[in-house]
Amino acid sequence: MEGPRIQVVVRIRPLSAREIRKNHYEIIEVTSPCDLVVKEEKLKVDLTKYLEGHNFTFDQVFNKETTNQDIYLTCVQPLISAAFDRMKITCFAYGQTGSGKTYTMMGEKTIPGLYIMAAEDVFKILSKSHTSLKIFVSFYEIYCGKLHDLLNERQQLFAREDAKQNVNIIGLKEWSVNNVDDIMKVIDFGLSVRMTGVTGANDESSRSHAVLQISLKAANKLHGKISFIDLAGSERGADTIDNTKQTRIDGAEINKSLLALKECIRALDQEKSHTPFRGSILTQVLKDSFVGRCKTVMIANISPASNNCEHTLNTLRYADRVK
Ligand code: ADP
Ligand code: MG
Repeated sequence: MEGPRIQVVVRIRPLSAREIRKNHYEIIEVTSPCDLVVKEEKLKVDLTKYLEGHNFTFDQVFNKETTNQDIYLTCVQPLISAAFDRMKITCFAYGQTGSGKTYTMMGEKTIPGLYIMAAEDVFKILSKSHTSLKIFVSFYEIYCGKLHDLLNERQQLFAREDAKQNVNIIGLKEWSVNNVDDIMKVIDFGLSVRMTGVTGANDESSRSHAVLQISLKAANKLHGKISFIDLAGSERGADTIDNTKQTRIDGAEINKSLLALKECIRALDQEKSHTPFRGSILTQVLKDSFVGRCKTVMIANISPASNNCEHTLNTLRYADRVK
């Protein structure tokens, strides 16, 4: 299949009502379909450490008017048919908590997200393809370096590498789905489990990675796979000053996995023979997203608001390094 193996795009959400009320203002200017500038003039934060400057270039920059559908049509839809062509397709949402990752992936009440638009196309293509492919869905979470099945009462699971060096999650539930309604029921179920959390803390979902996978199988053999990863809030990787021990553990794990992810995607782009996927549980279970016939899109979500400047710059730098 034509096209790059990795695309890195940025999505800027609108200022929220709360940010406007608090007199926060927009500091991001989109200067071309691929370029943005962080305007730092009035900011008090020390930007001298960002030596690369404040101009960034990506495969695409989506401004605040962009809809989920725009993102889907540009970045994801072209990859769905590749999954039918035996590819592993992976879509990451990266960014600080509140930057729009879940809004992009899952959408909100009347606004469909990438999950459902992809599911619709999977069944559309399937109905035209005259193949006997079957569709399966799994949905799990990585929290504090541990795997939890969102489709099976949060059961803790373990990943194993088999003799062929495939990484499998032992006992992961895969629900067979026959249409878009089926998929949506499974996703809604998983999301409701995700919201409840292990400890009941309401910011828990920002500390975990959610992995939704749609597998295409021919006679029980994997044919293609589409993975959506709503990553833990990137600012959580720096959570070391909080006074609870748990937060420090979370922060270290999240930091480790986001760094490992960066290395794996870079290896993908450079077509390196060695992919350092063992660097974290996240990259381990996503091994087949990084080797062989695969394509990845990373959506770096940012807030436009002045008070988020530092996190925004961190996100942009991370996304810039991934390219
Ligand atoms: P995250 O998952 O990164 O923590 P959310 O997706 O929950 O962030 O978004 C935080 C808030 O911002 C939500 O209230 C959401 O409705 C709003 N939001 C995010 N992106 C957009 C957007 N593109 N347009 C309008 N509102 C958005
Ligand atoms: Mg979220």
